[in-house]
Amino acid sequence: MKPISLTGLLDEGLDELAASAHAGFLLRVAVNIATAGIFALVLAWPICAAWACVTLALELMSWFATRRQFLGQPIGWRTRLWHVGGLAAACIAWVGLGALAWTSGTLDGALCALIVWLAVIFFAQTNAYQSRLGVVIGGVLPALAVLAVVLLAPHPPQLKLAPFVAILSLGFVFAGDGVARMLKARRRLDETRAELGRNEALYRVLADNVTDVITLADVNGKRLYMSPSTERALGYTMAELYAMPMYTFIHPDDRDELLRKVTEFRERGAGDLVAEYRVIRADGAVLWVETSFTLAGGQNGDPLRAISVARNIQRRKELEAELIEARVAAEAAAAAKSEFLANMTHELRTPLNAIIGFAGILKSSPRLDGQDARHARLIGDASETLLELVNSVLDVSRLDAGAVELDPAPFQPAVEAVAVLDLMSGQAAAKGLALSLQAPDGGFLSGDAKRLRQVLLNLVSNAIKFTAQGAVSLTVSQTPAGAGAALLRAEVSDTGVGIPAAQIPHVFERFTQADVSVSRRFGGTGLGLAICKRLVELMGGEIGLSSVEGEGSTFWFEVTLPTAEACAAPPPAAAAPQLDRPVRLLLVEDVAINRELVKAVLAQFEIEIEVAEDGLAAIAAFQRGLYDLVLMDVQMPVMDGLTATRRIRALPLPAAATTPIVAMTANVLPDQVARCVEAGMDGHLGKPMNPGELLKVIAFWSTHAITRIV
Ligand code: ADP
Repeated sequence: MKPISLTGLLDEGLDELAASAHAGFLLRVAVNIATAGIFALVLAWPICAAWACVTLALELMSWFATRRQFLGQPIGWRTRLWHVGGLAAACIAWVGLGALAWTSGTLDGALCALIVWLAVIFFAQTNAYQSRLGVVIGGVLPALAVLAVVLLAPHPPQLKLAPFVAILSLGFVFAGDGVARMLKARRRLDETRAELGRNEALYRVLADNVTDVITLADVNGKRLYMSPSTERALGYTMAELYAMPMYTFIHPDDRDELLRKVTEFRERGAGDLVAEYRVIRADGAVLWVETSFTLAGGQNGDPLRAISVARNIQRRKELEAELIEARVAAEAAAAAKSEFLANMTHELRTPLNAIIGFAGILKSSPRLDGQDARHARLIGDASETLLELVNSVLDVSRLDAGAVELDPAPFQPAVEAVAVLDLMSGQAAAKGLALSLQAPDGGFLSGDAKRLRQVLLNLVSNAIKFTAQGAVSLTVSQTPAGAGAALLRAEVSDTGVGIPAAQIPHVFERFTQADVSVSRRFGGTGLGLAICKRLVELMGGEIGLSSVEGEGSTFWFEVTLPTAEACAAPPPAAAAPQLDRPVRLLLVEDVAINRELVKAVLAQFEIEIEVAEDGLAAIAAFQRGLYDLVLMDVQMPVMDGLTATRRIRALPLPAAATTPIVAMTANVLPDQVARCVEAGMDGHLGKPMNPGELLKVIAFWSTHAITRIV
């Protein structure tokens, strides 16, 4: 059993009793005086006066003993003891007053005694029930004392004691039960309060330890609670934070916007708000935070409050900024890559122009003997291969950049297949391979025939390249695929080297070749199939293969294309251009070898060529003489061809508007061609220059006057 200590007996309930006793001081003083006056009717008045003096002195003492409890100040056990002593003395005084009246021997005195005892016990219990000691001193002991007085002390002769004691005892038992119940209720109240306190402490621990900043504010923005994390987050002390006006630490650039949002949110009175803004810490550092605001209360008299939970999102913002930076850098890198590519192809095409051109002239020269003519042919073939390679690299990167656009027009797949086989028949025959075609005449389809032919050419030339003996066959078929569409399927089969199973999934990747050994037998770049795949996919189709190593391969592709109406038969191939009158040509070209090439190609025709080495020289020449045609390079020192064209078109001369200007440039990308047209040029001739094309252009433009709307 727990030992009962003095401090344990002097429980905290006594303080509440003391506080309420203090509050009732004046009333009790009045009751004391009135009671003394009334008792003077049944007792000698000096006794009553003495009693009044004693009780008033006790009340005065009690006033001092209960003052600190009344003010809610902390007290020690001595003060409590003093108060309990005063309480006990007052009880004795009141029970004693009753005992005096009881022993006066009159019925009036006995009645007065009874009433005063009951009133005192009732009063004491109403105030003292929350303290165990209070119950004993103000209830149990007075009741026992009263019973003892009633039983033992003399009483009026005409009073029968037995029913009196019995009913008094019953009354005390009844009252005791009430007190016990009150004590129990009190205990439950204490337990509930303690539980509440523990819960609150728990929530406080939670709120105090979260890293997010939790704030509770009333509708006027006055902060009622801030979690201690605010201190860590903003670097101010809690006292400073409570003293600072709201929004002080919001970044000035974000303040108005946030205020507007929060005001709107409060006026809405429902839902929640999430806002991102910057705050400034005590040390001046700027932090990004994300805050969610919620409204609470506002019902059943509960005041409306705003709860906000703010989270540091500085790292996220930094990552976002890094991502944006990385994207900008990647875009810049992609742009640099495209530019590099454009420059590279330009630079490669410029010398190729001369090589292919002069090789062509040499090949047809009657002055070369057999061996020299063969060497010239070899130079021509090698440079054509190099040109193909440059074109492939260009194609791959344009496909990668999504810069290739299809140009659909009605075409007949069978006709394209025949054209491809015609082109490749020479190569197949040279290797002794049988080349066959199965392409039943189908209807017209709408598609980019040039690109489809490119794919077919690639597959057939690969088949021939990788087949030493046997046959290569091309099959093209068309099957209806829903309303107004047909499925075009092409298959190229060969009896060649085949592809190892492990390599099959990779052959469509860029720069991938099945045979990567140093001693590989076949040349190539590994770009052809990658281009085919991208082109077929661009058309919404599929490409694939099956192959057995050592036995052969079958490459296929399928594309669904809209069917088209038959179009007019293509115009017959243009006859060799006829230059039937002398032509005056202004050739604007900075590279000497290219100027020489054009002169050599055109030497046998009646063409008067004047040259200008840059744009500025071209303008000067244009101002001096009249020309049937200007061939304008684009990339030149001093002044480029685009600027020169614009300046020429702006000259106050009639010829400025009517003279045709045709670009002759290694800038062959679509946007580069578009820029030529924008600058005022009438045509575009890509380098390496094809002599036949050059003659066609000269023949066409020298006989076509231009009507230009200036
Ligand atoms: P390239 O032919 O320039 O090397 P491609 O992309 O056209 O590049 O082909 C990639 C690789 O796929 C080739 O190097 C070859 O190993 C393999 N390949 C392509 N077509 C065939 C074929 N018909 N037979 C065997 N192997 C082939």
